[in-house]
Amino acid sequence: MDTQHQENSGGQPLMESPRKIEHIGIAVKNLEDSLAFYTQMLGMKWLGTETVESEQVRVAFLAIGESHIELLEPTSDDSPIAKFIEKKGEGIHHIALSVDNQQQRLNALQEAGVRLINETPKRGAHNNMVAFVHPKATHGVLLELCEKAEL
Ligand code: ZN
Repeated sequence: MDTQHQENSGGQPLMESPRKIEHIGIAVKNLEDSLAFYTQMLGMKWLGTETVESEQVRVAFLAIGESHIELLEPTSDDSPIAKFIEKKGEGIHHIALSVDNQQQRLNALQEAGVRLINETPKRGAHNNMVAFVHPKATHGVLLELCEKAEL
């Protein structure tokens, strides 16, 4: 792992840069309250709300430029978002990077010894396929690699 790291520290990067920040995920206790703030106080446009059963969250999307804000409210105490809020309080939970060739990138990262939470993408909100990179590997930020799902 160290050798790999050194090989990649000076020369060619492992992969092409992700295209943009797709969204920033914010863990909130109450979706309606937080939505009211972002839409009424900041004037951001609400794009929709959906429930992601597998993650036990309700998710609201807001538009901002070419990116989004994703508000995440836990739907049960077992939700990863509930656990996050319990530990750290409300706040930024993850940053999502828009990528292509998602599986290839995950494979390359894994081969380079980067700690992943998901080795294969799973379906997230908004018809996105998502996979998370462990915050231990990213210097403290939970990173989501996000690719539009084929419909
Ligand atoms: Zn996300």
